[in-house]
Amino acid sequence: MAEKVVILGAGESGVGSAILAQKQGLRVFVSDLGKIKDKYKKILQQYRIAFEEGKHSEDEILKADLVIKSPGIPEKAPLVKKLREMKVPVISEIEFAGRYNNAKTICITGSNGKTTTTLLTYHLLKEAGLSVGLAGNVGSSFAWQVAEKDFDYYVIELSSFQLDDMYQFKADVAVLLNITPDHLDRYEYKMQNYVDSKFRVIQNQTPDDFFIYCADDPVIREELKKRHIPATCLPFGWTEAPENGAGVKGDNIIINWKQNTFTMSIFDIALQGRHNTYNSMAAGLAGMVLKIRNEKIRESLADFKGVEHRLERFLKVHGIEFINDSKATNVNSTWYALECINKPIVWIAGGVDKGNDYNDLKDLVGKKVKAIICLGVDNHKIREAFSGIVPDIIETQDMKDAVRSAYYLAKDGEVVLLSPACASFDLFENYEDRGRQFKTAVREL
Ligand code: ADP
Repeated sequence: MAEKVVILGAGESGVGSAILAQKQGLRVFVSDLGKIKDKYKKILQQYRIAFEEGKHSEDEILKADLVIKSPGIPEKAPLVKKLREMKVPVISEIEFAGRYNNAKTICITGSNGKTTTTLLTYHLLKEAGLSVGLAGNVGSSFAWQVAEKDFDYYVIELSSFQLDDMYQFKADVAVLLNITPDHLDRYEYKMQNYVDSKFRVIQNQTPDDFFIYCADDPVIREELKKRHIPATCLPFGWTEAPENGAGVKGDNIIINWKQNTFTMSIFDIALQGRHNTYNSMAAGLAGMVLKIRNEKIRESLADFKGVEHRLERFLKVHGIEFINDSKATNVNSTWYALECINKPIVWIAGGVDKGNDYNDLKDLVGKKVKAIICLGVDNHKIREAFSGIVPDIIETQDMKDAVRSAYYLAKDGEVVLLSPACASFDLFENYEDRGRQFKTAVREL
């Protein structure tokens, strides 16, 4: 009898996996502890895939030959523990889809910058005329596309949760942007576990594959001392470009690959800010090893439109520029936002604190921030960290109020920056909702 596959979680990746499994002739059962969205339910019905919602029927699930787990379901969930004890293989959607995929994969991970770099790399490949799909955390799931499309390449954004249950999967081009503490609650509060998870992006690679990584990142550098890397390594950093890799010289980025040198002024790159220069070097390197012509890379780096909620400069009101960086949900991403703005800033920060250490921001905040509007449940920590450094610190629990106060405090030529450094679920549904409410409140001024 055909292998029995159980899929836990009927979201984008779960439903995609179900379709792929069905097409491969496997016996499929989908189980979701919550309510399945109507659009997904319809699709499951359309494909005649058996499913349940609101429960996990253990007798059914434990009989599986293979379980595909959605990345949102934690390892400590009782059912997952039981499956592990019974030695039922539990894998991720990417691992599963990878088993049926023949296209080349460019896999992008890191603590920050994944979505931006994934979309930028996708833009670069698409503009170069390659047949390319976009998958992972963004867009339609990898499994779904493997089931229904026939691309030559995939650019895949991989979070550490997705990487966790990958075993045989191999990236042809792996990109590791940075590693700073995040989501440690899922890793027994051990940084090494999180680092190991990120480094899974290079598992199974051979010298024919590529590993593009940030050589300026201290955590990556330390980890590399301990590991043997079989892939062809292409570091990028804010130093002279290596023989194969990327760097910065004066105001230019330089990318070298096999006697070919690509040079572009940082000011001509669409995405501004030091972090985005790193992201652009990473995407450019991926383009170079995939043999995209220098002129095409230049055009794509120059005309990329950017991504909503990431340092999105969306409106000027009476000379005051409003920037939506709602996706900055940790201290490191906020550091880069503050670093790249060279005007006085009224900073809207706060939300749910994830064990933040604000010390790294003190210097920049002292130099650039004229007022802070704390917006969230954990305001006291921000007040404590920055009182004495910033003269005006206001607290509120309301976005409209925050925007009005910021507008009142900012002057012509200054910036109002929403870059919370915190999670959003105290006052908002998610970071997109927070960003949208910010933009609406600004438009209403
Ligand atoms: P991710 O998908 O990893 O969460 P995003 O591209 O959505 O990353 O960006 C999240 C936040 O991190 C944004 O505030 C963005 O400005 C910031 N950011 C983007 N790239 C980097 C980088 N290379 N290093 C640090 N912060 C970054």
